[in-house]
Amino acid sequence: MEFQFTERETAFEAEVEKFLKAALPEDWPEHARQWPGGYGALEPESKEAKKIAGEFNQKLVEKGWTTISWPKAFGGKAYSNMEQAIFDERMSYYHAPAFSIATGIAGPTILKFGTDENKQDWLPKIANKEIEMWLGYSEPNAGSDLAGIQTTAVRDGDAYIINGQKTWSTKAHTADCAWLIARTDPQGHRHKSISLFVVDNQTPGITIRPLNNILGIHSFNEVFFDNVRVPRRNLIGQENMGFYYLMTALDFERLMVGVGAFKRGLERLTGFVRQAERDGSPLGRNAAVRQRLADIAVRIEVAYLFFWRTASMLDKGLVPSVESSALKLVTTELSRKLADVYMEVLGPYGQLLRDEDGAPFNGLAPRGYLDCISATIGAGTSEIQRNIISMRGLGLPAR
Ligand SMILES: Cc1cc2nc3c(=O)[nH]c(=O)nc-3n(C[C@H](O)[C@H](O)[C@H](O)COP(=O)(O)OP(=O)(O)OC[C@H]3O[C@@H](n4cnc5c(N)ncnc54)[C@H](O)[C@@H]3O)c2cc1C
Repeated sequence: MEFQFTERETAFEAEVEKFLKAALPEDWPEHARQWPGGYGALEPESKEAKKIAGEFNQKLVEKGWTTISWPKAFGGKAYSNMEQAIFDERMSYYHAPAFSIATGIAGPTILKFGTDENKQDWLPKIANKEIEMWLGYSEPNAGSDLAGIQTTAVRDGDAYIINGQKTWSTKAHTADCAWLIARTDPQGHRHKSISLFVVDNQTPGITIRPLNNILGIHSFNEVFFDNVRVPRRNLIGQENMGFYYLMTALDFERLMVGVGAFKRGLERLTGFVRQAERDGSPLGRNAAVRQRLADIAVRIEVAYLFFWRTASMLDKGLVPSVESSALKLVTTELSRKLADVYMEVLGPYGQLLRDEDGAPFNGLAPRGYLDCISATIGAGTSEIQRNIISMRGLGLPAR
């Protein structure tokens, strides 16, 4: 079986590529400094990079390209999921600063489960990039087992009062609203007592404290909710159905893998190997190096096949749940493998940090070596993805 894009898809891919080349400086990946699959540097770090990212997102809004697969009624272009995947692949290949929890996770979940009121309240704002969100799922005592959350939301007239703590909350300090799960029926079944809310960060009673990641960057936080009053209309969908919406939201999150960044990462290393010499011989002749690069190339191809497959399943109205876990597993483990190979191929030079003399790719390798671990934990660990595949894919019983 041979997969090929349609004429329309091929033309769209070329259009996205042309847009990206015009909208981002040629050396943008150097500014972005994001390891393929890594969570460590989702936000641009320097002032200059932040400015470029802001302008880039404005250009996306002007082009109507923030939510291309959404229905036109909600600010989308009604493009296919395959076109969305083509768009995402090119964006990630160019390390474009387009990562968004609101457009990638919250919006699609509201489209699927939200009430009419939810759709009117949130979708236009998301499509126009007026709001960004952070994910309020994990708590100190609930990560892999999210049904164990202790944060509560208690009805009080036309509002809910939220109390509790979230942790590892990526972007909570830069986003506008929480996409939050809280327990609305403490006596109920653990999966049928959770609800999903959008909570404005400015609401009184919210305290956000920084947590630095392994790169030393303030990327995530712990967030405290102390009698936070949230309007009832900020409940998404039906009360106590939030855990089921969450499962779909997690599937959307697991599909947000930037496969293009892996291809770019391999091309960068292969380019280095082509021109480098070691002990007087071209590095490209070194058998061990060739083996490593070929191995990575095959793994990237596998990731791409899962990626296109999930898009094509979505276009057929199928639910790629096992496939989204498989895609997440394959790409995040690849993130670690790629970091290992960078280190092996670069040898001692691979340990040189940014701005040190002779540091290949200006110190990206040691950064990637640290950052790659995060990918295998966030959005559900590799063990949890294997559990999902064994239960939903292989029909094995839950433990
Ligand atoms: C970089 C990063 C960003 C994150 N961003 C966010 C965010 O924005 N919002 C948010 O809500 N959370 C976020 N998280 C939290 C993340 O979702 C959790 O860390 C993850 O789900 C694991 O939960 P835990 O840390 O509580 O570990 P635990 O659930 O305590 O797991 C500990 C270990 O036990 C293993 N384990 C647990 N249960 C099983 C099982 N049933 N079978 C086999 N092995 C098991 C796990 O795989 C892991 O190795 C982020 C995490 C990281 C690393």
